[in-house]
Amino acid sequence: MSASSANDSPRVTAAQPAFDGVDLHALAGRLGTPLYAYSATAIRQRIAGLQTALAGLDATICYAVKANSNLAILGLMADAGLGADIVSAGELKRALAAGIPAARIVFSGVGKTDDEIDAALEAGIARFNVESLDELHAIERVAGTRSATANAAVRINPDVDALTHAKISTGRAENKFGVSIAEARRWFAERAQLRHVRLDGLHVHIGSQILDLDPFRLALHRVAAFWRELVQAGHPLASIDVGGGLGVRYRAGQDQPIDAGDYAAVVREALAGFDGRLLLEPGRYLVAEAGVLLTRVLRIKEGTERRFLVLDAAMNDLLRPSLYDAWHDIVPVSPEPRPPATYDVVGPVCETGDTFARGRELPECAPGDLLAIQGAGAYGASMASTYNSRPLVAEVLLDEGRYAVIRRRQTYEEMVAGEQPAQDWQAP
Ligand SMILES: *Cc1c(COP(=O)(O)O)cnc(C)c1O
Repeated sequence: MSASSANDSPRVTAAQPAFDGVDLHALAGRLGTPLYAYSATAIRQRIAGLQTALAGLDATICYAVKANSNLAILGLMADAGLGADIVSAGELKRALAAGIPAARIVFSGVGKTDDEIDAALEAGIARFNVESLDELHAIERVAGTRSATANAAVRINPDVDALTHAKISTGRAENKFGVSIAEARRWFAERAQLRHVRLDGLHVHIGSQILDLDPFRLALHRVAAFWRELVQAGHPLASIDVGGGLGVRYRAGQDQPIDAGDYAAVVREALAGFDGRLLLEPGRYLVAEAGVLLTRVLRIKEGTERRFLVLDAAMNDLLRPSLYDAWHDIVPVSPEPRPPATYDVVGPVCETGDTFARGRELPECAPGDLLAIQGAGAYGASMASTYNSRPLVAEVLLDEGRYAVIRRRQTYEEMVAGEQPAQDWQAP
């Protein structure tokens, strides 16, 4: 249903130096590098593909803000009628500022503070995805102080192996996320004691970058069996949140992403007969392939054993290769054919881990060449830091031949804002 639209999306290729109709050389010349560039067209196509796949279901897509939290990206989500999955008060503010209605916001995460719970109640969010008994009690207490009622779903840890990288797996019994079905059963049995929490939902999110439908199927069947048991026990549910985790193509010719239609079919089948609201929390799936990190070659260093391609982008700009050993395709933005060469592609940061790729075969490069690191639209800019005192890079949105800067390059003054000499010494 929707796979074709995903594959026809704007994409940088070696033969095509434009992205969403924008010439990347001109863009990099004007705005400098490193630079994040996102295709609005590609993001809209992903959203539309998923919405088509879900047609006929009472389903709300709550975009996982942490994947790319730029206000302009959130604005695209708001325009398309999406909600948001947030994990902090900062993300709540961003989602609201971008025009996402509070009634479409769900709040996940194991460490919500009282202040964050209060801010979410104040805003009137749709639902809390609750990760522990202690958190359930905190929500009950904070909602009590406002004489409010919080809608809540239990995050189930279905003990399913998502067959993904260990650092992005969240649905195993050993992970910090969610509670066992046995524990959730006790919460429902005792839910009458909750005066300020309406516990009437289930939530599951088993991990990220999942390329196989089986873990989703298994997890959803466990959730469905529990939902039916709860109905039998007199606890009807208003919502089931199936989480995010849909994988994307980081490596052309290797990664086979899940088709949105196939995924929706699994959801339909597993939750057939459920008459409440379905919630989905895709992050990466909507934005990863819509973004590139543009970077220039600073120099080529011939080491004794390896040849290094030193870029002006580094791990502080795009952490995924260092953090998750993630593969990102790297494409020279140049149509001329060149002989192949093998490089370790590295950044200037003083860490051995500042490596985008080892032993990567690329067309031969020269200093000044422009490269596009692909699949950088998710968990790129949102995970960036100023490590090594490198200011945050600019972000730009492309849309059919036009561009708009959606975050200007950070200045030195902005980077050090808030720091000051130790002079106003005080006793606590
Ligand atoms: C991170 C996260 C998501 C989004 O994950 P993706 O792999 O980007 O789709 C959804 N739900 C929860 C609870 C998350 O923590």
